[in-house]
Amino acid sequence: MAGIAIEGIRKSFGATQVLKAVSLQLRQGEFLSLVGPSGCGKTTLLRIIAGLKTADSGAIHIAGREVTRLRAADRDIAMVFQNYALYPHLTVAENLAVPLVMRALTPWQRLPLLGRLAPGTAARRREIAARVQAAAEMLRIGHLLDRRPVQLSGGQRQRVALGRALVRQPSAFLMDEPLSNLDAELRASTRREIVELHRAAGVTTVYVTHDQVEAMTMSDRVAVMMGGEVLQLGTPREVYEEPAELRVAAFLGSPRINTLKVAAAPDGLRLGPVTLPLQAAAAPGTRLTLGLRPEAFALAGEGLAARVEHLEFLGAELLLHGRLAADESPIIARLPQAETAGLAIGAQVALAVEWRAALLFDAEGKRLRLAPQREAAHA
Ligand code: ATP
Repeated sequence: MAGIAIEGIRKSFGATQVLKAVSLQLRQGEFLSLVGPSGCGKTTLLRIIAGLKTADSGAIHIAGREVTRLRAADRDIAMVFQNYALYPHLTVAENLAVPLVMRALTPWQRLPLLGRLAPGTAARRREIAARVQAAAEMLRIGHLLDRRPVQLSGGQRQRVALGRALVRQPSAFLMDEPLSNLDAELRASTRREIVELHRAAGVTTVYVTHDQVEAMTMSDRVAVMMGGEVLQLGTPREVYEEPAELRVAAFLGSPRINTLKVAAAPDGLRLGPVTLPLQAAAAPGTRLTLGLRPEAFALAGEGLAARVEHLEFLGAELLLHGRLAADESPIIARLPQAETAGLAIGAQVALAVEWRAALLFDAEGKRLRLAPQREAAHA
């Protein structure tokens, strides 16, 4: 199979198991993000794919070739890390040329003076210069080719690091938090650039990030990792709208999903004295967790009664922090600013709920199916 196949990768550091038989298949040309909280094992997995760390067991195939026992240099991959790792004594053009020079020229041909006399050197150097120029134009750093890294901004340095990965067409790009040293504005623009580059180059890419926005906006698919395991693999929409378990639902989305303690009943789900119009396939009395994302609420004439405790203005939207009258659960609702005129701390409001977007989880946090009913909530 082309793409990347990761099969049963295990890794322990001393007694700590950091990767627990992780398997993932990437299609040729796919952009996959490994996303998860700090310490979940995503960097360790990326370094194992790269050949910078060895797994205790399992196998890695890149572009149809088993590379498990090959050195990083022999895996035909290009890496971009959060620290740009440019050679400070070389110009931008020379930095971009390094991977090509290392591959295209023999050690003898690489010698600055004597190398020029070696047969074939001039033609190869011309070809390298042309590819450096092409990569530089794609990344809009053509005007910086004669500068040294110290004379560049953080964003420009990261573009050079990306360019260095791009100058040769490797079988895979491996990126570890490449945007984390950039300020917010540069992050957003470089994010777009990486996506465009990926589209243009069509190289299978594994991208490590703890930032869910990056993972959701850039990827074809997202692997949500926690505690050394992949909890779920899916498109950004799938993992957000159809999370397989509560841990995934809680990790994705900001503000965090609201979770309410409910109990199954014959006529709906009980939240304190209120019966919610949702039917679960669970025995009456079973304790469950209901997940409602902040955007599932709207201010309405009737709905769940709540008391406003705090308001956060975000510009076009407003976050209402409140407490439900039914059971005193804290709740966060994301509301369009235009609909919140006159809202004040201490006010009593009614929150209409988009029940179709509700998520239900069992006591272990596994997702349960539920069917919305027609009637509104009643006390
Ligand atoms: P972060 O986003 O913080 O980089 P991560 O998900 O990339 O986190 P890893 O760097 O892969 O996590 O680390 C996974 C776990 O393995 C962590 O608990 C870390 O402390 C541990 N770990 C990583 N490298 C080593 C090592 N060389 N020796 C011992 N423990 C290690």
